[in-house]
Amino acid sequence: MTSDQTLKSNKYKHISFRLNTALLIVLCFYLIASYLSIHTLAKQANEFKALSGGHFDSAMNAAELARDAEVIAAQAIEQLISSDRSRSNEDVLNKNLVAIYQNVRQKLNSNAEMDEAQLEKIDKLQVPFFKSLKHLELSLLKEQTLIREKYENTQQLALLSQWLVEENTQESHPDFYLHALAALNYTSLALNTQSQGQLNKLDKLSQASFNSLSSLKLSQKKQQDFLNQIAPLLKSTIALQTPLQQSHRATLAAAREARLHAQRLSGSSYNYFLSLKEAAKKASQSHQNVVDKAINRLFIFTAIFVLLTGLTYFFIRLYIIRRLNNLSKIMQQHVRGKAVEIPLNGNDEIALIAQAFSVFVKARSDAEESLKKAHLETEEANRKLKRFNNQLQTLSETDELTQVANRRRFFLEANDKWQHALHYNNWIGIIMIDVDLFKSYNDHYGHLAGDECLLKIAQLLEQQLDHDQDLIARYGGEEFIIILPMQDQASCLTRAKMLLNTIVEAQLPHLQNPRKVVTLSMGVAACLPSPDTQVKELIKDADNALYQAKNQGRCQVRLAQHEAFSFNE
Ligand code: GH3
Ligand code: MG
Ligand code: MG
Repeated sequence: MTSDQTLKSNKYKHISFRLNTALLIVLCFYLIASYLSIHTLAKQANEFKALSGGHFDSAMNAAELARDAEVIAAQAIEQLISSDRSRSNEDVLNKNLVAIYQNVRQKLNSNAEMDEAQLEKIDKLQVPFFKSLKHLELSLLKEQTLIREKYENTQQLALLSQWLVEENTQESHPDFYLHALAALNYTSLALNTQSQGQLNKLDKLSQASFNSLSSLKLSQKKQQDFLNQIAPLLKSTIALQTPLQQSHRATLAAAREARLHAQRLSGSSYNYFLSLKEAAKKASQSHQNVVDKAINRLFIFTAIFVLLTGLTYFFIRLYIIRRLNNLSKIMQQHVRGKAVEIPLNGNDEIALIAQAFSVFVKARSDAEESLKKAHLETEEANRKLKRFNNQLQTLSETDELTQVANRRRFFLEANDKWQHALHYNNWIGIIMIDVDLFKSYNDHYGHLAGDECLLKIAQLLEQQLDHDQDLIARYGGEEFIIILPMQDQASCLTRAKMLLNTIVEAQLPHLQNPRKVVTLSMGVAACLPSPDTQVKELIKDADNALYQAKNQGRCQVRLAQHEAFSFNE
């Protein structure tokens, strides 16, 4: 079969192969797309985790370091300036400050490889920062010492002023009180002045007041002691003010320097924080790019997947489902007997089914055609057989020479008609006919002419009969018999006479007959059949009547046991 060979040689055109290939491609594509998507997402997740973790920790530490540098500087300045601290407190403070800073710095060391240059810069800046802190501390210690001295002098000045107020009585020297108070006041004012010029002026005024006081002639010992007491106090107090101011300025300068170093350090740390923040931002951006890429890929893969699925569906619908539906409709139409055209194009299984169905339809059509032909042939054969049977039956029931019924048929039908008459209580009659002097006819005209004459007589007699009811048969030799159902004796007699007239009037030549034409002798019998009688008896009666007709001179009709009919009559 060519279609089998075609299928074998074109297996790539099989629907199953195409469908499996298409679905396999779709499946593979989907698996690859899924793998790439998952792989990309996992990769970007890990990268982002590493980057964000490292950068975030470092950035936080850097920010903490920057803040700590500022806090340390601020705390150092504030605590050193404001506290009236002991030596032990200084140690604890220094220790805590360094520990706080080193602890944070240590955290950055763990990620040092990330940006060593930045950390080196921070480490370089921390040395002058701690130096400046130390310098500030020393300046403050010095200033504190001077302040304590100033405080003690202030206390003494206050005590002396109080004593002076209490001793200001009637007995006191008025100038003593005036100059002493002036000297104390100028000195006290000098303690609070910031200007060097003002200080020099107050120093002179204080000295002038003291000189004026010294120039007085003091009578009381208390006043002399007072004078001795304020002499060094005034000098030392005024002399203390300049170094105190210098120390204060030095402290401020050290504080500014410490602050500056702290700002540099925190600035550097903050820059490091910014660079880390930038790196984290870049990492985040990179992560965002990876995510965007993954999303784009997923979108493209999904679109292609949907497209491939759509194409697969289109392929299945166009090449399989539609064709199968079409073929199914065509098959159903054929089943209903409508011969529509079967699509035979293509090399796949559906085409094969169509081709096989087409072969089946053709085979069925051929079979139907053959069956129809066979049926027609059978019908024709049956018709022939029937015709043949009819012919056979006719032949078997027909007299060959005269073409009227033979004896056999006559007795079959006579019995039926007899039974019918018996059943319906009808009359039935018999006419026995014998050709007169027929031996002489043969002798005169020859035997063949005799045969033709017998045929002519039979035809003439038959033409006069009612074929639905009556039946004529050759009874034997030149004798005929007629059965007449539903005919009584009179009717039968009339009919017999009419038949005799027909033959005589036909004037068939018979020179040996006294009438020179062929004549007949007839015996007629009729009766109402009874159960105890048979048709043979009626035939016998008719035959007897015929015998009588012959004896009475021929060419006549004789009714059984009744009157005779002669043609002459
Ligand atoms: P009758 O008037 O008394 O009847 O005289 P008949 O000569 O007719 O009667 P018979 O019985 O003596 O002769 C009958 C003849 O009929 C004898 C025979 O030659 C003739 N015959 C019988 N059958 C046939 C036949 O088939 N063909 C021919 N040509 N003649 C036949
Ligand atoms: Mg005879
Ligand atoms: Mg005869």
